[in-house]
Amino acid sequence: MKPRCRVNGCANVRAGHSLLCSKHRSRKRRHGHEEQRTISKGDLKPFIEKVQARIAKQPDAKLWSVLDQRWDIVTTNWRAELPKTIVRYVRAGMKELVRLADTASGRDVAVTVIAMYLLQEYDPRLFKDETGFRTQLVRRVRTLSSTSFSHWSGASDGRERRAMKELEPRTTEYLSGLLVELFGAAGVRVAQVENREEEEQRKERLAYYEALGEVK
Ligand SMILES: [Zn+2]
Repeated sequence: MKPRCRVNGCANVRAGHSLLCSKHRSRKRRHGHEEQRTISKGDLKPFIEKVQARIAKQPDAKLWSVLDQRWDIVTTNWRAELPKTIVRYVRAGMKELVRLADTASGRDVAVTVIAMYLLQEYDPRLFKDETGFRTQLVRRVRTLSSTSFSHWSGASDGRERRAMKELEPRTTEYLSGLLVELFGAAGVRVAQVENREEEEQRKERLAYYEALGEVK
């Protein structure tokens, strides 16, 4: 009998020399882990809104313009000339960043990255491991640009379909490293501040209920 896929509950046979079936092997390739679920636009939306509210609350904080500048410096330099490298996936990752900059704003990319950090803080179990997180981070950022998709029509219902153009896993990993280097510290910081505020609100509510209880 052929050995089964190593994913719990999956009855498919392994593909080639992989420990996974072909379905889970391609999921690992596209999503960073064989059991990583896709983080949808809807999953991230409340956290995008939190980041936008944070910016609106303190619009003059230097951090926001620093994030814009960090994006502009890298993408402008690389658009003029890509750093010399013979490593194929590094070059592919750099080109992908420049391509993103042609169609998406640095601010939107920064907000998306920070929102992913908030989501991870809020529900760490959504991510199977660091590669799962980083792969979903890259997917959410690439969704900002319509050029990340191939479009086709001709489905039986006549509606247009789109699918995200695949990147090699190593290119995704490199690109996620760039995004984390650009905006990761901001993500960590905003997540801390959000946490602190939620804790303060919780204490304030608790004090209120205690005070209510004191009145006889
Ligand atoms: Zn499987």
